[in-house]
Amino acid sequence: MIDVTGNILVIDDEKVISKVLEVILEEDYTITKTTSAVDGLALARAELPDLILLDIHMPEIDGYELCRLLKTDTQTKNIPIIFVTALSTQEDETKGLEAGAADYIVKPINPSIVQARVKNQMEVKKQRDYLEKLSTIDSMTGVYNRRYLDECLSREWRRCQRAKTDLSIVLIDIDTFKAYNDKYGHVAGDDCLRLVAEKLKEVPQRGGDILARYGGEEFMAILPETPYEFLSFMAEKFRSAIEEAAIHHFDSEVSDILTVSVGAATVKPDKHIDMMYLVKMADKMLYKAKGDGRNRACIMDLGDVYEDSIAETAEADERA
Ligand code: GH3
Ligand code: MG
Ligand code: MG
Repeated sequence: MIDVTGNILVIDDEKVISKVLEVILEEDYTITKTTSAVDGLALARAELPDLILLDIHMPEIDGYELCRLLKTDTQTKNIPIIFVTALSTQEDETKGLEAGAADYIVKPINPSIVQARVKNQMEVKKQRDYLEKLSTIDSMTGVYNRRYLDECLSREWRRCQRAKTDLSIVLIDIDTFKAYNDKYGHVAGDDCLRLVAEKLKEVPQRGGDILARYGGEEFMAILPETPYEFLSFMAEKFRSAIEEAAIHHFDSEVSDILTVSVGAATVKPDKHIDMMYLVKMADKMLYKAKGDGRNRACIMDLGDVYEDSIAETAEADERA
């Protein structure tokens, strides 16, 4: 079931109109109102409401212009806008819809029409949000999918570069999972992957952290603003979460329970480093964890590697 409650932003320079709209809608929705178009733009960007009710005649920016601004901003472009206006000609309505509005209500306000039209738009918005969320999820394990992970990594790379903070990633690969499938069958293998995802999700993570299926029996966690010292703690948490789950794997070379190997790396994103270098290094650490006997975590601080390589270059320059 899709929840059709939601947040509505009312932008109208006449206080009495926004008050009337609030009274009509407050039983079903959370209302924020402003009489200033400039504040309305800022509120829309900050609060990302589910729907905006917008007047056209306003002193600072008119409603058409505000609508266009909201529709060209990637953050706000998916918020449906309903014009609520005294402008009643067909040309006015056409202009409103062409500016990107989802619907157009002509004053004087009729409560049942407002309620019905708001409900319609809210349902469409919720349906779209639901589909958008679904498209980011790996259907088998319920964690984020690879597509979302890639988007998120690029976004966090840019953000941490601007903020000059650490970005860490963790690769988690199930040990000898082919042998698990061979012994218990693929259906049990799928159940096992779901359980592993669930156990990894239970590892306490901070608000901005992302856990995703990287592919096959591999998962990746993106941990923004996580320095090397804390990364080693987190990598060990992911490893031990699976060990503690004590899932039988009698054909494993490592133990009689299922284990994972973990490779992790941290870096301060910088324009001189390619984002994929971070992934490559985490993968290299994973390879090392496998080579060292599996069921372990290996971590690299790329900050150091990067500084070392600068120092080496400087030394080489001096010698030359
Ligand atoms: P290692 O310890 O070196 O990681 O060995 P491994 O057997 O886990 O690694 P390998 O890459 O050789 O095999 C991965 C296996 O994971 C093979 C594949 O059948 C299994 N696998 C990948 N995705 C799925 C899936 O969605 N369901 C099931 N049941 N198995 C999967
Ligand atoms: Mg693998
Ligand atoms: Mg594996």
